Amino acid sequence: MENKKGKLIVFEGPDGSGQSTQAELLKKYLEEKGFQIILTKEPTRESPASQKISAILNHKTKATPEELQKLFIEDREHHVEKLILPALVESRIIICDRYFFSNFAFGAIDCALDWLISLNQNFPIPDLTLILDVSPEVCLERITSRGRPVQFFENLEKLGKVMENYKKVAPMFSNVYLVNGERPIETIHQEILEIVKKVLE
Ligand code: ADP
Repeated sequence: MENKKGKLIVFEGPDGSGQSTQAELLKKYLEEKGFQIILTKEPTRESPASQKISAILNHKTKATPEELQKLFIEDREHHVEKLILPALVESRIIICDRYFFSNFAFGAIDCALDWLISLNQNFPIPDLTLILDVSPEVCLERITSRGRPVQFFENLEKLGKVMENYKKVAPMFSNVYLVNGERPIETIHQEILEIVKKVLE
């Protein structure tokens, strides 16, 4: 990682917590400041593994929890190799909507956390991870109102466990911030900007 000069900023949280909304707002703000931003997300929808993930999450194929988590790793390997690492070497700012914390938070519902952490140990560590803290009830309300079919992890019990797991792993890494995501979009955005400014200094 000696040549890594860019910055990797990651958004995390349960589905419906508002990551995509905040990632877009941050991109827009930084572009207006003159930065060139790469906004990307996981799963990527580009790797062979991501096609399999999509089929599993949409209940079209079955897999064990371990198989599913390993597919996220395969997809991340593709993402890091093809996009994230080259962009970091070129000193770009990358905003990534989900990264390895999603493996921990979603995966640890059914798999061992130590195993999930070990699978991720060779990936670039984000310069900043912002975890949106939103209750399962609010997440589900937002998911339902966006009107697409509900996916595998989108029920109250799982959304709650995902949030618990995020809170459990957050202190294990540096540069991780929990942000209250139940406030108005603009208030959250302003708090995120304060954090991001410190990281980009
Ligand atoms: P995620 O990417 O975490 O699944 P999205 O950013 O797609 O979540 O947001 C899910 C829905 O909730 C969207 O319809 C979005 O407009 C809405 N939303 C996002 N953030 C907030 C917020 N702070 N307050 C109210 N609604 C929000």
